[in-house]
Amino acid sequence: GYSKLYGCDYIKVSEKNGGRRIINENEAQWVRKMFEWLVNDGMTCRGIAVKLNSLQVPTKYNNYWSRKVVHQILSNVAYMGVTLYKQGEPIELPDVTPPIIDKALFEAAQKQLRRNFEKASRNMRRQYLLHGHIRCRHCGKPYRAQIQIQHTKSNTYHYRRYACLCAKPAPDGPPMKRCHNKGWVADRLEALVWTQIERILADPSIIVAEIEKQRQCIGDVSHLQTELGHIERQLKAVDRGQAQLLDWAIKGFPEYLVVSENKKHNAKRESLKVQKADIEQNIRASQEAAITLPKLERYVELIRERLSKLDFETKRLALEMLDITVWIDGCNVEVTGIFPISDYAIVTPQMDG
Ligand SMILES: [Zn+2]
Repeated sequence: GYSKLYGCDYIKVSEKNGGRRIINENEAQWVRKMFEWLVNDGMTCRGIAVKLNSLQVPTKYNNYWSRKVVHQILSNVAYMGVTLYKQGEPIELPDVTPPIIDKALFEAAQKQLRRNFEKASRNMRRQYLLHGHIRCRHCGKPYRAQIQIQHTKSNTYHYRRYACLCAKPAPDGPPMKRCHNKGWVADRLEALVWTQIERILADPSIIVAEIEKQRQCIGDVSHLQTELGHIERQLKAVDRGQAQLLDWAIKGFPEYLVVSENKKHNAKRESLKVQKADIEQNIRASQEAAITLPKLERYVELIRERLSKLDFETKRLALEMLDITVWIDGCNVEVTGIFPISDYAIVTPQMDG
């Protein structure tokens, strides 16, 4: 329904789709302030909620202000006088809600909400070392970074956490309501994973082996290109054969012969095309290796020199360069990446989560 709106009172009218809102000035003054705090002062929804609570502004139902409620208000079109009746397709009802703020302020507010969201995402990446690098072994979805709030009698604690927060099962996964894979305290998981990364970066033999493997890959390119040329010539031969066949058909050769020959040509072409795609893919992989190799060599040199005193951004870059994915399966943590890190699966005793 559209009856309960902070900033307005509701008047019942005894007709179909009846009911009107009138401005409740006690509440409406706070709605205007909320929009102004957002647009003029760039405050966050959480900040606004804290401020409203500290000013002891009553909510409609005598609750505390939460970030979520503030966000709902600041993104509700009703405050510029648009009433959407949402039962199935939303219908706009005219003359139900009087505007509390104008359209320009509302639109500025939506822009600021987006800016706040983007800034929060940037801060999130800045704060969480493994953000974007963790995946759930159970459902395949990325783990998300979150702040866990824990209340005790005397205090409230905030701590950083990674968890699989997916609500839906994977399309090809087992049917389940929600993924129950273990959540990890961020400090602990980050320390665990970074220890493994450090070991890889500090061990020249692993790096040399990988670089050597990529070198061999590059060496193969000329051989692959010769093979590709061979396949392309065979494909042209098939085309010529089919043209010849058409010629025969016109000259009145028996139809069954022409049809069966044509089938052979088509089968040959299909198989050649598969081989060609395969070789082309290998060539691309080799060319990519040729590009990443010098970059990787320089990078590894740089990292090794100052491994013990890396800052957050450099560590993030290391995770990118090494293409690190951390797979979580309960207490089992597996690190995969450009180096054969998967040999270093970590199994830990059940503790948090
Ligand atoms: Zn999951």
